[in-house]
Amino acid sequence: MDGCAFKLEIEDMGARLIVVGGGIVGVTIARELVRRGHEVLLLERDSLGAAVTGASLACIGTHMNSRSEIEILKWSCRAWSELDRALGGTMEYRNSGQIRFLKRAEDRKVAEDWIAFESAAGVPSELLEPAEVRKLEPLLTGPIEAATYATNAATVTPFLAVRAIAKDAVRRGIEMRLHTPVERLATRGGAVRGVVTAEGEITADAVILAAGPWTPRIAATAGLAVPIMPRKAQCLASVGVEPAIRSVIAACESTGGVAAGYTQIQQAPSGQILFNTVLAGGLSAEGAQDHVPEVDPVFVGNSIRQLLWLFPSLAGLELLRSWVRYEAVTPDDRFLVGATAVNGLYLAAGDGGSGFGRGPAIARVIADALEDRPPPFDASVWSPLRFARTQAA
Ligand SMILES: Cc1cc2nc3c(=O)[nH]c(=O)nc-3n(C[C@H](O)[C@H](O)[C@H](O)COP(=O)(O)OP(=O)(O)OC[C@H]3O[C@@H](n4cnc5c(N)ncnc54)[C@H](O)[C@@H]3O)c2cc1C
Repeated sequence: MDGCAFKLEIEDMGARLIVVGGGIVGVTIARELVRRGHEVLLLERDSLGAAVTGASLACIGTHMNSRSEIEILKWSCRAWSELDRALGGTMEYRNSGQIRFLKRAEDRKVAEDWIAFESAAGVPSELLEPAEVRKLEPLLTGPIEAATYATNAATVTPFLAVRAIAKDAVRRGIEMRLHTPVERLATRGGAVRGVVTAEGEITADAVILAAGPWTPRIAATAGLAVPIMPRKAQCLASVGVEPAIRSVIAACESTGGVAAGYTQIQQAPSGQILFNTVLAGGLSAEGAQDHVPEVDPVFVGNSIRQLLWLFPSLAGLELLRSWVRYEAVTPDDRFLVGATAVNGLYLAAGDGGSGFGRGPAIARVIADALEDRPPPFDASVWSPLRFARTQAA
């Protein structure tokens, strides 16, 4: 991409930038850009956090997550705790730690490999026998083989986080327009120079798309094909109960991957127990993200069975609500973050179900790319240019 004139302009006076999408990724980017002196307009079709962000379990951590992104995750974890301090503890940020349980003896090798890898990367985790797990989680009395434990995992309450970050960004000077869908990108001479909404065209030096699974549709209006598909994600919440679960509980990575029964269980500060179990992964068809269905009965049954297998004393727990949202998934399950082959168009989408943990790192990569600076970690795994299809048509 030839962005030289644009970069000079940014260095001289700060740029006029449009961020599309008011999920955790969009608001975090908007805050970082305004902190650096740019003029920022954030456009959200609905309300803040209305899509997958508000439906999240919002665990932030490095454990058993992605080897190729470990330095990014370490940076992002630290950035979240600094953000919490900077925003005065308004997100219910809690350093809960994470436990990954093993169901089968053959998964010990997988767990040990992760522990060796993470310890070498400076984010220690350890293997615990069932009796040691119960010292941390007295109610986790199910017949697990063992578990791993990482102390650095944290959680935030998603709606509080997205609002706190957006509020700080507005205080610093961003303009935010909610209920304002972007209809298409505005182009001049092949470069993106703004967006079109129902009220007309708004010009900008560059546009950053943080529109989750809707990103490909908007990018296509500037001739850019983006390989993102929606994937259904479901969750259950109990009524609030006395403190029962301290950590984020998840399954050890196993040879069956998602199909082997990925689980995440945690207790919110409100006392609600939040849990989900994915027994059959798989993408949804494009367009699924536009209609939010009820959760599948089979998902409800599987999730309850998994919860009670781990925590038998929670039998009788009353369920309060359930929800479905759509994550944005790329072919290699990693984000698309940075400049594209279309001048003036940047991507920050493709969360793969892990966008909360990565939010601050994504904001850093976008802001550095706009200013032509290298980020403090290698972000090449996120380059939108890695897929031929993201080249301009
Ligand atoms: C049950 C569940 C548990 C999860 N647990 C975790 C976890 O523990 N840790 C973790 O890191 N992640 C987790 N995730 C995933 C995480 O929530 C997402 O990765 C993250 O919220 C993605 O944020 P986003 O801003 O990219 O996308 P979104 O929240 O989808 O935001 C995109 C926004 O763009 C807006 N938009 C779309 N089209 C337009 C348009 N034309 N004009 C204007 N605006 C538009 C949408 O309305 C939406 O608000 C979980 C998700 C679920 C569902």
